[in-house]
Amino acid sequence: MTRDQGETGNGVRRQIVGHLRRLQAEGVWALPRAQASTSPTTAHGAPARQSGLFEEPAPESELAHYRDVDETLEQIESEALACTTCRLCEGRTHVVFGVGAPRARVMFIGEGPGRDEDLQGEPFVGRAGKLLNDIIKAMKLRREDVYITNAVKCRPPKNRNPEADELAACRHFLLRQVSVIEPDVIILLGRVAVQTVLQVRAPLGRLRGRFHDWNGIPVMCTYHPAYLLRNPAEKSKVWADVQLVMAFLDQE
Ligand code: SF4
Repeated sequence: MTRDQGETGNGVRRQIVGHLRRLQAEGVWALPRAQASTSPTTAHGAPARQSGLFEEPAPESELAHYRDVDETLEQIESEALACTTCRLCEGRTHVVFGVGAPRARVMFIGEGPGRDEDLQGEPFVGRAGKLLNDIIKAMKLRREDVYITNAVKCRPPKNRNPEADELAACRHFLLRQVSVIEPDVIILLGRVAVQTVLQVRAPLGRLRGRFHDWNGIPVMCTYHPAYLLRNPAEKSKVWADVQLVMAFLDQE
């Protein structure tokens, strides 16, 4: 599929999401599968059948403000490179902004840089990064076809989880990245990324395996590659999640 076709698909997707939100506002929280299977929604939207679109109230769009801002990834990155807004700036070697295609259809969001990432200034470059590369390859994509970033851009000390105030301070960078890239689908890697982006507290095991609507973008939650290194038996679940994403991309 060409980028132009993808843009058309994006427009259709936004129309569908807008329609679904109007239905939600009118109190319609579920559509029968038979109806979905014969509607234009189905041809386009595997997520609509499986996702929170029909199960969760649509939040106010956080991206609306940033969509009106004319800026590039390079401009956002140069701002991030000089950022000292939160305490994570104190121990960083590099700001790890993100890598990949500026108009990627698939965007991966992890938690925060680890030691290798901090040293190299690139997300997902250690053992977990190698596993993510394998996942991307299994999706019949190349690392340079997707965009990869984290919820916070600077390494938390001793690889601890980012604190709430650090995640909040860094959130605008992530929103702006998403706003510029306009991915067709986002894959959230691990609990911290899921809780940060979707702002929900449900266990990841209950959130994975279906699409969620976040600012009109289908979002798939799945396990972090570092978790898979410790729990290789869970790889099959990630593969199942990835297959849903691939099916969605094929339909688009
Ligand atoms: S983690 Fe984000 S908010 Fe904190 S210093 Fe780094 S770039 Fe700035």
